[in-house]
Amino acid sequence: MTVHPSDSPADIDVVVVGAGFAGLYALHRLRGMGLSARAFEQAEDVGGTWYWNRYPGARCDVESIDYSFSFSEELQQEWSWTERYATQPEILRYLNHVADRFDLRPAITFGTRVVSAVYHEPSAQWLVETDRGHRVTARYCIMAVGCLSLGRIPDFPGLESFRGQAYHTGTWPRQGVDFAGLRVGVIGTGSSGIQVIPQIAQQAAHLTVFQRTPHYTIPAQHHQLDPEWLAEFKHQYADYRARMRVSRGGVSRDYSERRALDTPPEQRRRVYQARWNFGGAEILGSFADLLTDTEANQTVAEFVAGKIREIVRDPDVAGRLVPRGYPFGAKRLCVDTGYYDTYNRDNVTLVDVTATPIEAITPAGLRTTAAEHELDAIVFATGFDAMTGALLAMDIRGRGGLPLRQAWEAGPRTYLGLSVAGFPNLFIVTGPGSPSVLSNVVLSIEQHVEWITDFLGYLRKHDIDWAEPRTRAQDSWVAHVNDVASQTLFPVGNSWYLGANVPGKPRVFMPYIGGVGRYRAICDQVAAAGYTGFDLGAAGQDTDPELPAVADAEAAWG
Ligand code: NAP
Repeated sequence: MTVHPSDSPADIDVVVVGAGFAGLYALHRLRGMGLSARAFEQAEDVGGTWYWNRYPGARCDVESIDYSFSFSEELQQEWSWTERYATQPEILRYLNHVADRFDLRPAITFGTRVVSAVYHEPSAQWLVETDRGHRVTARYCIMAVGCLSLGRIPDFPGLESFRGQAYHTGTWPRQGVDFAGLRVGVIGTGSSGIQVIPQIAQQAAHLTVFQRTPHYTIPAQHHQLDPEWLAEFKHQYADYRARMRVSRGGVSRDYSERRALDTPPEQRRRVYQARWNFGGAEILGSFADLLTDTEANQTVAEFVAGKIREIVRDPDVAGRLVPRGYPFGAKRLCVDTGYYDTYNRDNVTLVDVTATPIEAITPAGLRTTAAEHELDAIVFATGFDAMTGALLAMDIRGRGGLPLRQAWEAGPRTYLGLSVAGFPNLFIVTGPGSPSVLSNVVLSIEQHVEWITDFLGYLRKHDIDWAEPRTRAQDSWVAHVNDVASQTLFPVGNSWYLGANVPGKPRVFMPYIGGVGRYRAICDQVAAAGYTGFDLGAAGQDTDPELPAVADAEAAWG
């Protein structure tokens, strides 16, 4: 256990962990408030998830004009996206531009992983330590580590014995990979697999896809952005962003109020066809009951199954690609470019590893219960320890030395998805219990960073040393998050939203599905009422008994 330095003033006001979208904006805001801040970033440069996920085909499934910062009118006017859905290189260029434009690099220590953050009660400070020997004390910690940043490769027997090349999509080599002439295997058909598979198929001598669960994917109907259209669009950017902020998902998507089951089948089909033609996740907004009513959900599931059977020529392969056993959209809906068509290629084979599971990785490739597959390279598109993995990879200790790993033993519990009882002055950007991965995450990042930094301003103004959510407020918020989720079909999908992809991880539906607009209103109400639900105090002292009651906080979402 680390010995905390004396009760002397903290070295800096704020430690920020991570330099992706969230860390960069946090640094910018903190500096604007006159607070001293330092970010530690494991990568050698800015970008977060967009630094690491360099696999061929990587692009965002939220439209570029939505998936970008709105806090600076100058920034959004001067930057011009070239494609409807931005590629990873373009997003990374954008984040580099943001870092340079706002001169953020001097405040970032790169190539450095935070290993621990320990709260010291008498001084109300955090001691943060890194793998390179930094020991920094700070009043506040802002965890900007991202929701999908700790990749995972399943514990396949024989993993280490493989003699070929092995890659995880989430830690792709910077110099790229040449698959020409190789026999390649891809394990996993989530968003990453669905993007990388068509690209590798074009390069490799042969590609074998090992699919456990078929995921639903909708063609992006991707296109270049016409510069003239973009210039015209930018005139109303501020209004457009204002609408996104009060929307359900933080995007400009149009959600219909009509119910699928009240719509005649032929008309319903026309709606699905129109949204299919439009492309992307838009189809989820076709009808209001798609994610709450199983029968309604089946109508869209059948429409998409029909499309798969139309596109994929071999009926047996098409049958294996049709998702089953979970509702449409309950696992993250994927967006693709040419995914189903890829299975019409002669050099692509689909192996169903639910029917014939992977037994082992071998020196020469991979063995299922049915066959040996000789491979020169394996790509693990096997996902992430989502939402909690990167946080719990650090040794975070709150009051009384309580480890976050222990506090979250039965699953993550937060107040508003941004703070944790027992962990004063620690804030999580897009943490579990906030809209995060079920929203346009850049917009949610902005909302969190603004809310957190406003809170820090309030604490300073009122000379308050620490803020910590009350357990009762947290319990009430967790109950609300669960309640909202249980009114939908989301918890039925065996998804990473629930932690179901990591053996032994507690099953808790992690994102808040009440909508971005509603969530923002709740957070604003909590702030306006004097940060209800939080205990506030001076260093070395207990809470002020005059604080607003937790019931006032509950009124915000009750
Ligand atoms: P994922 O959605 O968790 O998919 C992982 C895949 O690996 C699944 O098909 C899973 O099968 C399979 N898998 C895991 N363990 C396996 C095992 N032991 N044997 C066989 N197959 C196994 O991960 P992801 O594709 O990296 O995507 C994660 C999230 O990142 C996405 O949902 C999205 O939010 C984000 N993302 C976004 C984009 C984008 O914006 N376009 C791109 C990539 C990622 P099961 O389904 O059966 O578990």
